[in-house]
Amino acid sequence: MRRSRKVKILATLGPASSDEVMIKRLFEAGADVFRINMSHASHELMRELVARLRKVEEEVGRPIGILADLQGPKLRVGKFENGSVELEPGQTFTLDDNPKPGDDKRVHLPHPEILKSVEPGHRLLIDDGRLQLKVIKANGKSIVCEVVSGTKISDKKGVSLPDTDLPVGALTEKDRKDLDAVLATGVDWVALSFVQRPEDLAEVRKIARGRAAIMSKIEKPQAVARLAEIIELSDALMVARGDLGVEMPLEAVPGIQKQITRAARRAGKPVVVATQMLESMISAPVPTRAEVSDVSIAVFEGADAVMLSAESAAGQYPVEAVATMNAIAVQVEKDPLYPGIINAQRSEPEATGADAISLAARQIGETLKLAAIVTYTASGTTGLRAARERPQLPIIALSPVVETARRLSLVWGTHCVVTEDANDLDDMVDRACRIAFRENFGGAGDRIIITAGVPLRTPGATNMLRIAYIGSDGQGGH
Ligand code: PGA
Ligand code: MN
Repeated sequence: MRRSRKVKILATLGPASSDEVMIKRLFEAGADVFRINMSHASHELMRELVARLRKVEEEVGRPIGILADLQGPKLRVGKFENGSVELEPGQTFTLDDNPKPGDDKRVHLPHPEILKSVEPGHRLLIDDGRLQLKVIKANGKSIVCEVVSGTKISDKKGVSLPDTDLPVGALTEKDRKDLDAVLATGVDWVALSFVQRPEDLAEVRKIARGRAAIMSKIEKPQAVARLAEIIELSDALMVARGDLGVEMPLEAVPGIQKQITRAARRAGKPVVVATQMLESMISAPVPTRAEVSDVSIAVFEGADAVMLSAESAAGQYPVEAVATMNAIAVQVEKDPLYPGIINAQRSEPEATGADAISLAARQIGETLKLAAIVTYTASGTTGLRAARERPQLPIIALSPVVETARRLSLVWGTHCVVTEDANDLDDMVDRACRIAFRENFGGAGDRIIITAGVPLRTPGATNMLRIAYIGSDGQGGH
């Protein structure tokens, strides 16, 4: 089973998509990686979902990536006497450390660290920015604000502080427990919400100890400001446009999306574009023209994956949403303008064997119109460097490590196959040809290009490039 597109599809699981039959249908419609949102899933449900995903993986015979998304420090106000209050622009409104239910003058803010760090002039955006407050004075126990815009606040609404450097790490107590649970269950990727600084990554890395790869969700202006350092310490990035669009002016989000996508491509780290991509399909079987265009922009930019949130997790048309994304991606990648746009953003190779060979493999493959690049990759690094070249031909990543294949399922243009290590050079060529044939990438007489590190099993030593014919019986030729 092979996909007919390079970009990957990441689908969030939820009430609309938690049973095995539905998960399998989403996979068949095009979902390559599945996201479990730890803001909503209990540990028990998370474990059940992972077990179901592994069962589907076994049934369909393809590696499937699982991403556990940690909630992070999502800040919320307390409750009100009557659930909500009406406010007027211009009036003052106070957030304080008093747990008593709120009224139209004040409400509890159960985050002492925020009460201490805001300064006059800072903005507080409540309920995804529907209510905007400006700090007049703050004394560590209460924040007196002026209502700038909006007229309503209700129980437990989210609070964003785009101007305030929060002295909180990206991991809350809940996140730590969730992280332990998802690592013990064996997910492939962990996403970290509201990353602000590189230190946030260091902390998670220490706990994860390589058991899962780490994706940083870029949704704070502080993270955009330190993007290069954060990319350096992350295994992947997510353009988390939901919260990003609250914390930054909405009109700044498209430019930031391009900036993050390009920087991640340059670093050779997978990048996911997320949130509201096909939002209207939560309740309609067809998307809007604007949504189709939005998905196409991420595909044209060479993002590794596009993501569905509520569309697949809680909408009425989860399968249709995945199928729609798939159809858009397939069509965009066939567009005559697509290769030129992808090429324009390609980065120069770094001075390593892996990069030089990846570049050469792409050029030879494109010049000779070969069927595929087959790359032997144990840790996944060589696979990532091959994908960084964004070749026109497919990449088949062969790994003896199932976890590597699952992680790489998020990566642009990469078809992962788990196979034992080759015994010698002949076996390596034969195996590559057999798999390319079996997985439908080429027929007898087609040629593939193989890259590897010889002697085999030497990590980071990509040094070999070989062109081979697929033999008449699917075996390696010469
Ligand atoms: P969320 O992250 O859905 O967990 O908030 C994505 C986003 O903010 O866009
Ligand atoms: Mn978010």
